[in-house]
Amino acid sequence: MNKCTTKKCLFCEESLRQKLVLENDEAFVIFDEFPVNPGHCLIIPKRHVSSYFDLNSEEVLAMHQLLLEAKKLVTEQFNPDGFNIGVNVGEAAGQSVFHVHMHLIPRYKGDIENPRGGIRGVIPGKRSY
Ligand SMILES: [Zn+2]
Repeated sequence: MNKCTTKKCLFCEESLRQKLVLENDEAFVIFDEFPVNPGHCLIIPKRHVSSYFDLNSEEVLAMHQLLLEAKKLVTEQFNPDGFNIGVNVGEAAGQSVFHVHMHLIPRYKGDIENPRGGIRGVIPGKRSY
């Protein structure tokens, strides 16, 4: 089921084109409008696809290439100490815009008290181990 057909898709909107920071044939990059940290980027396929697992291999490769370029750009502009990379797939996993988007979240020493476990923190009680 494609939830974006019931209302306007945020990532299919034409106005988004003015905000692109990087682009290739299959995908593009924007800065997140509500960044969890300075430099938080989204890597988004141009084709409207809801789930990461429904992307074709060209799109996966194109997104990965932009992930590397975005990492370089964010490093130059924000000089972070680390990164988290993540994709939410499905409402149960926290997906709120049903058009694939990969988060590149720069991390800075001291941005949270104890970062150990990183994305394991999607289940807060299970982050530290
Ligand atoms: Zn869309």
